[in-house]
Amino acid sequence: MRRGHIPFRQCVACRRRLEKDLLRRFVQQAGQWLPDPAQRAPGRGVYVCSPECAQHVAKNKRYRTLAPVAQAVWVRSNGENGNRTSSRTG
Ligand SMILES: [Zn+2]
Repeated sequence: MRRGHIPFRQCVACRRRLEKDLLRRFVQQAGQWLPDPAQRAPGRGVYVCSPECAQHVAKNKRYRTLAPVAQAVWVRSNGENGNRTSSRTG
């Protein structure tokens, strides 16, 4: 495991700088925004830090179409986490 150097990236909505792992990356390809969970896809990448910020980018003309894509990523991951803690029967 590498320690020490932690890459920071800036959220396009709130402009806060956070560790790369805490952000979600999205890339624009052929005019379409796509989630980039591996954070390695080529193309112009942007980072969003929270579901609130995913909504906030809808107000930015440049990232308007990013908002629904970004929000979908958080909706999906929330569902997975919620299921894990409940229903422990055996
Ligand atoms: Zn943010």
